[in-house]
Amino acid sequence: MTDDITKLARMNIQELQPYQSARRIGGEHGDIWLNANESPVSFQFKLKKKIFNRYPECQPRYLISSYADYVGIFPNQVLATRGADEGIELLIKAFCKPKKDAIIYCPPTYDMYKISAKIFDVIVKEIPTFQNTWKLDLLNIQSNLNQVKLIYICNPNNPTGNIISKQDLIFLLEITKNKSLIVIDEAYIEFSPKDSMVSYLKKYSNLVILRTMSKAFALAGIRCGFTLAQKNIIKILNKVISPYPISVPVSDIATQSLNINFIKLMESRVLDLNNNRIWLINKLKNISCVEKIFVSHANYLLVKFFMFEEIFKMLWDKGIILRNQNKKKNLEKCLRITIGTRLECSRLIEELKIFSKNNISKRGFNEK
Ligand SMILES: *Cc1c(COP(=O)(O)O)cnc(C)c1O
Repeated sequence: MTDDITKLARMNIQELQPYQSARRIGGEHGDIWLNANESPVSFQFKLKKKIFNRYPECQPRYLISSYADYVGIFPNQVLATRGADEGIELLIKAFCKPKKDAIIYCPPTYDMYKISAKIFDVIVKEIPTFQNTWKLDLLNIQSNLNQVKLIYICNPNNPTGNIISKQDLIFLLEITKNKSLIVIDEAYIEFSPKDSMVSYLKKYSNLVILRTMSKAFALAGIRCGFTLAQKNIIKILNKVISPYPISVPVSDIATQSLNINFIKLMESRVLDLNNNRIWLINKLKNISCVEKIFVSHANYLLVKFFMFEEIFKMLWDKGIILRNQNKKKNLEKCLRITIGTRLECSRLIEELKIFSKNNISKRGFNEK
């Protein structure tokens, strides 16, 4: 008999399907990585400190004030976390009673809201967005607010790329006053800055915004994110965060990246990527294996393909790695393409052109 020690784990953990991160699925295969919405370019950093025998500050002062300045809010409205992912989790830890309280999750969207809730045995109410427009089902949300402490909204949404209108977000903030927090994940907001809800932090005590250095700031490797809210919420979250979440090298590099020159560089990189996205859309429009291209306001593009499975595999074999979304709610036959450098985008287009030519008139697609 094998004594299965894993039976000691909590049942919800035994049953948990963990997050399938791009690096977990793709490993280090290929040479054009368009599967994790990372920046395709980077910089060399110099560390200011060379010795590390002392613990860091729990909330590194300069890091916090630099981010507060960047956003235009007060330092006491900012919490630094180990990636935005930690912010998602801290909110559940601080606000949700296991088995009693609930979160609302609106798929297709970022999976970590649901997975974090499941880890803490918190109820997940799934209220899908409307197919193809990806608008929130506001009335359905409104009639399901019972026991809901947190409503996670990703804006721009990953993986669909759409923006949720301010009008809809304000509607949510109004109907949940004093009842639930509206958590807006702005991981990609630098690609569409006018859609940020930061200016509403003053007005709504139930608004929480998640940010990250992993995407537009090109720092996925250091694991640094921020939670923004009114100061009383930040105080609560500071109670549950681990004692030293931000290591010295992390706060050093993140603080350097928040000086004005780096911010300008980030903004010019964002312009380049947004232009590459437009270029890619125009090329994809003329490729016959493409069934539908969804409008995107971020550094990725959701595309529905004829023969998506063959295309995913063909590209994989050529070292071009995309993210398969086929199993996600309402995303049959869809692949998500991270916007890379122009060269990477054109490599992708070349392969898709060859594939289309070789497979023309198969499975419902014709010459365009
Ligand atoms: C990438 C991503 C995150 C995670 O950000 P980290 O700061 O790297 O943890 C959070 N939310 C969304 C929607 C993302 O796409």
